[in-house]
Amino acid sequence: MIKIAKFGGSSVADADHFRKIRGIVESDSARRFVVVSACGRRFKEDSKVTDLLYLVDAHVRYHVSCDDLLADIGQRYFDIADELGLAYPIRQEFADFSDRARKGEFSTEELVSRGEYFTARLMAEYLGLPFLDAADVVAFHHDGTLSMNRTKELFAERAPKGGFVLPGFYGATREGQVKLLDRGGGDISGAIAANCLGADLYENWTDVSGFLSADPRIVENPEPIARITYSEMRELSYMGASVLHEEAIFPVRDADIPIVIKNTNRPEDPGTIISESAGASESEPIITGITGKRDFLAINIMKTHLCREVGIIRRTLSVFERYGVSIEHIPSGIDSFGVVVQGTDVKDSIWSIIADIKAEIHPDEIQVADGLALISTVGRNMIGRPGVSGSLFAALGAEGISIRMIAQGSDEINIIVGVSESDFERAIRVIYDAFSDGDRILEISELEATVRASNVTMTNILGGENIDK
Ligand code: ASP
Repeated sequence: MIKIAKFGGSSVADADHFRKIRGIVESDSARRFVVVSACGRRFKEDSKVTDLLYLVDAHVRYHVSCDDLLADIGQRYFDIADELGLAYPIRQEFADFSDRARKGEFSTEELVSRGEYFTARLMAEYLGLPFLDAADVVAFHHDGTLSMNRTKELFAERAPKGGFVLPGFYGATREGQVKLLDRGGGDISGAIAANCLGADLYENWTDVSGFLSADPRIVENPEPIARITYSEMRELSYMGASVLHEEAIFPVRDADIPIVIKNTNRPEDPGTIISESAGASESEPIITGITGKRDFLAINIMKTHLCREVGIIRRTLSVFERYGVSIEHIPSGIDSFGVVVQGTDVKDSIWSIIADIKAEIHPDEIQVADGLALISTVGRNMIGRPGVSGSLFAALGAEGISIRMIAQGSDEINIIVGVSESDFERAIRVIYDAFSDGDRILEISELEATVRASNVTMTNILGGENIDK
């Protein structure tokens, strides 16, 4: 059994967290492959070492003294080493690094990468595991993109089989030039290591116990999500829930390795498991999560016989394309359709866009409806299951919340409703309540029982038999 344990910035912020990590690593013999970020924030107003290193780089480039900054960064490592009694010559190493940094000898990427480098050096000694330099195993092309094939070869050749501590966030080209992944890229490094070692599990240790089924600022005590699929996670994060680094997913997803999000400060919490497919038993929750975003705007376009005019939607959309505006939804009717976009994307250009649409398609009328919020209810278990949207709409209706737009992805894993911004939080609470018993989210079998009990029947809107039409 191989587990990759990646610890984020806040998990390695100080000596106390190093101790917690040792406890976590020692409690499971499969946790021998550790990936670390640079020391992150110790408290809310604190700075991340990576951010400070970017500042050092800017100071050096503009020839402004950065002695204080370097002293602050160094002190963070010295404190950890002193408190844990580590032998690694951090003062000497950091002094050498500082000298070279002041002289401008580093590229930005190499300079910034030292944040994870020093953290991993100290962690390796503290855990009694070998240090594996990311520059030796994580391979980049010269254009700064990752070479997964070569990285795999290098891991096979060079990674100690019994375990290691690897600094995240960076790697190097064949010539040894250091390259960085995106910000927050320690998550990607962990996923790369998991893929290369063929790990059974990728543990992503952070400061929360996984994902919650709703924003706790809106819903009181939302239930934690036990399992989530990659597609559900994309839906939730797209609509505003902050989760894993997007790219962190592909190396583990490709290799079908599950990820678990765990809390370094509460290791006994189960966390959230992310995998390609999650169980399909009747005791699964009916919905996985609810999320949403404010500040959308719908441009509604009316034109008689619109449904018979070919190309009209394409021509309208080409206007948005010209302005570089991304389109969220296109709800359509017979003689009308709407284009839903994010408010910030059209803040300055909305009136020009409207003028261009008028010139392009000569509509009968155009209306702009702003102040729209979108709420997405996400759940793999909604697929092919009658009653879910019924319960959702009924609940909103019963609370007097007017629905201004409805969309469902064709994969049926989410239902999106547009409501007025003033109803946003209330609507999320109402939907959450509709699918929970106040304590936990209802299971599939419980929802089905509710639907049966309500004895819903379909009525024919034509009113009676109509066999001619
Ligand atoms: N230290 C890097 C950053 O702050 C990478 C990471 O923490 O994942 O972006």
